Amino acid sequence: MLTNDQLAQWDRESFFHPSTHLAQFARGEAPQRIVTGGEGCHITDRDGNRLLDGFAGLYCVNVGYGRRQIIDAIARQASELAYYHAYLGHGTEASITLSKMVMDRAPKGMARVYFGLGGSDANETNIKLVWYYNNIRGLPKKKKIISRWRGYHGSGLMSGSLTGLELFHKKFDLPLAGVLHAAAPDYYRRPDASMTEAEFTAYLLKDLEDLIQREGPDTIAAFIGEPVLGTGGITPPPAGYWPGVQAILKRHDILLIVDEVITGFGRLGSMFGSDHYGLEPDLITIAKGLTSAYAPLSGSIVGQRMWDVLCQGTDENGAFGHGWTYSAHPIGAAAGIANLTLIDELGLVENAARTGAYLRARMAEALGDHPNVGDIRGEGMLCAVELTPNRATRASYDPVGSVAGPVVAEMARRGVIARAMPQADVLGFAPPLCLTEDEADTIVRTTTEALHATLR
Ligand code: PLP
Repeated sequence: MLTNDQLAQWDRESFFHPSTHLAQFARGEAPQRIVTGGEGCHITDRDGNRLLDGFAGLYCVNVGYGRRQIIDAIARQASELAYYHAYLGHGTEASITLSKMVMDRAPKGMARVYFGLGGSDANETNIKLVWYYNNIRGLPKKKKIISRWRGYHGSGLMSGSLTGLELFHKKFDLPLAGVLHAAAPDYYRRPDASMTEAEFTAYLLKDLEDLIQREGPDTIAAFIGEPVLGTGGITPPPAGYWPGVQAILKRHDILLIVDEVITGFGRLGSMFGSDHYGLEPDLITIAKGLTSAYAPLSGSIVGQRMWDVLCQGTDENGAFGHGWTYSAHPIGAAAGIANLTLIDELGLVENAARTGAYLRARMAEALGDHPNVGDIRGEGMLCAVELTPNRATRASYDPVGSVAGPVVAEMARRGVIARAMPQADVLGFAPPLCLTEDEADTIVRTTTEALHATLR
């Protein structure tokens, strides 16, 4: 079977796709891909293409496609008990076992895990927990949340407000009041090229401290950040950033929410980004890698000091008035158990560190001297190649995105999926954690060829 025009037509006529140019798609001007299968690091589509998925879907298919253990676990769970809710103390063997497995892997100091469906809803939950916490503590004014420009935390009303990307605010009346954004920890895009990394860190910490002082520390409840900026450009923090941020937050009694939707369960070559950078979170957001996207499931891991106050809150106010019908869905939980087991069995956290480093090293060898490559960076199984028309000035293309988009399209024609990251000309790579060195070589070769073909 090659093309299926009926399906393609239904797609253009019926399907409202997320993060898509709606009008162009409906008119048939924007690309369309109908995906039919996946095996290991590759997907296949209806046009007969087999593509190496250098972005693991949306940095989520961490164990790769077609894993029999997870598929069988889902099927078994569906036939035994496809659904029961988790309200009022109800659980299933799968949801209880997965909560134990998550807590066994969580950084120290964490007390419980609440399960949702996706990263956005987990961050909505987190902010409600923070507000509840400060109400119970008798601090009703302490409610504002600090996020960062270029952070990504989802696209709900609150999570979309936390996201620091203009595309997710413009025309949606976001961000909501009470959400503040600190400067993006992106050394390549530092305001002054002469700044050392240490000076840039000092600049970021001063920006954060100034923001807190301007708003009043007694009005600020929490700070949320990804260990490594993801959708905002795959940007590891400058040295000293996280210890400095944590010291400021502690000084002002501000909670730390670490959004590990991308980094949780191995992507950085450590089980959690919090371990990787020595963070002491009050809340951790998890999703994607929890089930490797075989079924939707997310979570909020709650630290002990918050948990104690939440318990006090229910003693004072009755049951906790928050939950989703599909919280801790047994099919998601069964997928999660099989997925975390597989990550351990295959040593994928170690492979993320080893093969991820190999991928970046090969990328730097191939493209480090290219006149339009300004920066090659990443951590664990994450890699970004930032493009510029002028390496000396670090200028941006006009319009932004006009080069990364065509390069990524050219790569797909050559059989490799990369992602043109929004708001800058950045080629993003977040392959499955089971990537081999041969596959890494294919990604690098295809990136190089596509870049030359596009810029020629
Ligand atoms: N947080 C981070 C760091 C993410 O990367 C994402 C999605 O990419 C989200 C939250 C939102 O997750 P979801 O798309 O599952 O709602």
